[in-house]
Amino acid sequence: MNKILVNERLKRVAETFGTPVLVMDLNIVKANYEKLIDNVRNSRVYYAVKANSHIEILKLLRDLGSYFDVASRPEIEKLLSIGVEPERMSFGNTIKKTKDISFAYNNGIRMFAVDSEMEIEKIADNAPGSDIYVRISTNGMEDDADWPLTRKFGTSVDHAIKLVKYAVDLELNPIGVSFHVGSQNYNPDNWRVAIREVSVVFEEARKMGIDMYMVNTGGGMPVKYSRNIPSVEEISEVINKAIVDYIGENTLVVLEPGRSMVGSAGAMVTSVILRSKKGEENWVYTDAGIFHGLTETIQNIRYEVEVIGRELEEKGKFVLAGPTCDSVDVMYYDIELAKNVTIDDLIVLYNTGAYTTEYSTNFNGIEPPKVVFEEIFVKEPLTEEV
Ligand SMILES: *Cc1c(COP(=O)(O)O)cnc(C)c1O
Repeated sequence: MNKILVNERLKRVAETFGTPVLVMDLNIVKANYEKLIDNVRNSRVYYAVKANSHIEILKLLRDLGSYFDVASRPEIEKLLSIGVEPERMSFGNTIKKTKDISFAYNNGIRMFAVDSEMEIEKIADNAPGSDIYVRISTNGMEDDADWPLTRKFGTSVDHAIKLVKYAVDLELNPIGVSFHVGSQNYNPDNWRVAIREVSVVFEEARKMGIDMYMVNTGGGMPVKYSRNIPSVEEISEVINKAIVDYIGENTLVVLEPGRSMVGSAGAMVTSVILRSKKGEENWVYTDAGIFHGLTETIQNIRYEVEVIGRELEEKGKFVLAGPTCDSVDVMYYDIELAKNVTIDDLIVLYNTGAYTTEYSTNFNGIEPPKVVFEEIFVKEPLTEEV
């Protein structure tokens, strides 16, 4: 798919609907779903709803037969409202409100993630007899992920073993172990190492007479931003091999893609509302920023950015900032844009279908980006250079 052609389509959408606008192509979501299912053996996809909870995406995945990883009552309600059965939901947040656990249980959900004693007690009290899985924290190699999830979530292998035992004592049913290698992870070997650690928990559980059957490999599969990424096929291969080598080939593999399911299906189009010069720095301000969908730029996420209609022009160094009255609202202090970029130009940020509109606020009274569904990429996500 040619970038200039895509940009012309994006421009038409922006002219019709105004900016900022996130343009999503459901064909790509479908292709991403199918690719995962085709490549990871014995797998089930639980879409991480938080990445993009737009109802059209949830309906598409419902129709494709996907399962869902949910984190709160409103996410559960949204899925129930479109007819997703509770058996297709996993309450994967390890930090649940007690009331939300009761709500989930009363609506038929029986699958919960834990990484602490108190969470097990909450589930035993409010969702008795349910399936639980223990989340371990994957060590080291934190630099491999642009958005690490190590410290706040999961626990040690030793502690996980104790939690499995404790869950059985409280008459819950431990079915497996989960991990998350960190979002936007570039190193497939992280999955192998994590699955090897999971195997220790499985082995110790077996010694206690507890047979588990599920490995939840979380999310973490990357989307193409500025750096090259390993392919889904490559990561799947590592997962398939590690499951056979360390756990056993009949293991159910749960996948929880968020970013890799929807990231490549979206492009955010913004308008330049001001250009200015401060000393040596050239500043460009757009109508969406940190508080209007581009939140992930505060950490390590480097989107690919282009000025529509100036793809072939000479580039220069810029600071790219958002429209609000907050100095945090700066996306990049060192980005290359077309040198002659000016007011009313459209700036597109590619592969922004995940973790953008979900983070949007109304800060300063400025409206969040609209979401529009169009077949902009036809079959393939954007890959080719100009
Ligand atoms: C956010 C989240 C995911 C999705 O992670 P991605 O890196 O976006 O694929 C999966 N599982 C859990 C438990 C999460 O919290």
